[in-house]
Amino acid sequence: MRVDDKLRVVDAGDVRGLVRKYLREYADCSGSVLYSGLDTLTAADFYFIGLNPGDSSGEDRLIDHTIHPANWSAYTCQCWQRGCNEDDCAHKSGGKVLERYATRHQRRVQQLARSLGQSPEQIFATNCIFVRSPSTRELMKDAESRKKAYELWNCCWPVHAKFLSEVKPKLVVCLGNGTEFTSFGLLHRKSNTPEILESGSTFRDGRYFKAQFNLGFDEPWIYGVPHPSWHQPPANFGDRSSPPFSSCQRS
Ligand SMILES: [Zn+2]
Repeated sequence: MRVDDKLRVVDAGDVRGLVRKYLREYADCSGSVLYSGLDTLTAADFYFIGLNPGDSSGEDRLIDHTIHPANWSAYTCQCWQRGCNEDDCAHKSGGKVLERYATRHQRRVQQLARSLGQSPEQIFATNCIFVRSPSTRELMKDAESRKKAYELWNCCWPVHAKFLSEVKPKLVVCLGNGTEFTSFGLLHRKSNTPEILESGSTFRDGRYFKAQFNLGFDEPWIYGVPHPSWHQPPANFGDRSSPPFSSCQRS
C-alpha cells in the first residue's frame, strides 16, 4: 500500500477527514484517535501504539472527539480513574494527572517514554483500533465480535499508514506483545509476518521484528512490550547497546 503524499495530516480537521473517509459508520462510535498532541504528528524516532481505547465515562464520538494541539499525552493528561468526568476531575494539577491517580498502565507508559529519553508528550501515540471497548475480552467475546474487530482494524489501518508516513519512526513500540489480537500481533500480520526476534527468554523481556509495510520509506523496527496494565517494562528497554534500540538514533 502506497500512501498519497499530497494528503498531509497537519490539523484536527485532517484527522477528522481521515476518520470520516475510512471509519465510515464507525465514526459515530465512542473512541479516540490520538493519544498525544497534534504536535507529535511530525518526523520523529518513536511511535507508541496500543490496541484500542478502554472504558471511559466520557461519550466522545470519533468524528468530533477532542484533539489536543500540543504538549498533551493521554498517559499524563487524561484521567483514567473509573467514573471520573474530565470536566469535573479532581485528580489533576496543572493539567497533569497526579502521580497517585495515574493508573499502572499510564505510569508504565510514562516509564517507557523516559527510558527512550523522552517525555510522553513528545511521542506520537495512538491505538490500532480507535473505537472504544470496555476490554479486549469484550472485543473478542464471540465470532461476530472478532469479525467486527478485524474489520475495524482494517478500517483504521489506512489512517495509521498516513500517520506512519508523517512520523516515519525508527521504532514503533507496541503496548502488548502477544502474537494474536494485540497491537504487536496486528502489526506483525500487516507486515507479512517476518521472523519475530526475542529480546530475552520470555515475552516479558520484549520481542521485535523489522516491519515490511511497504509504505515507501525506511521501515521501522516494531518492538512489543508485555502489556503495561499487567507487566513491568522489560529491563533492557531503551538500551542503545542492544537491538533494536541500537538502530535508533538519539533525538
Ligand atoms: Zn479524574
